[in-house]
Amino acid sequence: MSHPILKIEDVNKSYDTGKSKLHVLKGINLSINQGEFVSIMGSSGSGKSTLLNIIGILDEADNGIYELDGFPIKHLTEVKAAEYRSRFIGFIFQSFNLINYKTALENVALPLYYQNVSRKERTKKALEYLEKVGLKEWAEHLPSELSGGQKQRVAIARALISDPKLILADEPTGALDSKTTHDIMKLLQDINNEGKTIVVVTHEPDVAAQTKRNVVLKDGRIESDEFIKQIVL
Ligand code: ADP
Ligand code: MG
Repeated sequence: MSHPILKIEDVNKSYDTGKSKLHVLKGINLSINQGEFVSIMGSSGSGKSTLLNIIGILDEADNGIYELDGFPIKHLTEVKAAEYRSRFIGFIFQSFNLINYKTALENVALPLYYQNVSRKERTKKALEYLEKVGLKEWAEHLPSELSGGQKQRVAIARALISDPKLILADEPTGALDSKTTHDIMKLLQDINNEGKTIVVVTHEPDVAAQTKRNVVLKDGRIESDEFIKQIVL
């Protein structure tokens, strides 16, 4: 039985731009079950990243309800928000966000460092996850020695290592060529097939077609929300 990993009800979000308010999200309702693979599409500026940042507890909605795995997410202290993020969520970004002076292995192991896992155990697990993304031989390399696709694989391994309930990816293929995009989406499909819930923001219809459900944002509202026939890679 799958149950909602996240539930959003009537969420609004505005930005104060000094002179005026920019109303970005206007009454968003979204429920995602465990094991889903969801894409969020919409033109640039439609609020995709804003919504993903609220889901990832990097930002907070102005009002409405947000529950993550049954926990109400509201007025959290920064300490509590960080605890929930590390417990529930793995992030993947367009720009990879790797630490340049740390090796692939150290980057992947980092979330475990903050969870006070021993060095030996961190190294063992990081190698395991690097192998999972096909980069075991690159463990001792720095990000500058890796291709874009390899950097994103490192970021995916880092997102997975603490076994989060939810993987959030903001334009994960935005900086990659089409062949590498294909490989990264195939990897995300494999990870989803192992049961991991994934939400990916993208403006590329080809990428959205490789997920199982497509949500389209327009003018701050959900224009459509459909289960789709996934293109299996
Ligand atoms: P998308 O990811 O779909 O391109 P965003 O969620 O990043 O859209 O942005 C939605 C709108 O909100 C845009 O008009 C953007 O300029 C504005 N915006 C985003 N973040 C902020 C912010 N921190 N302060 C003010 N305006 C913002
Ligand atoms: Mg964005």
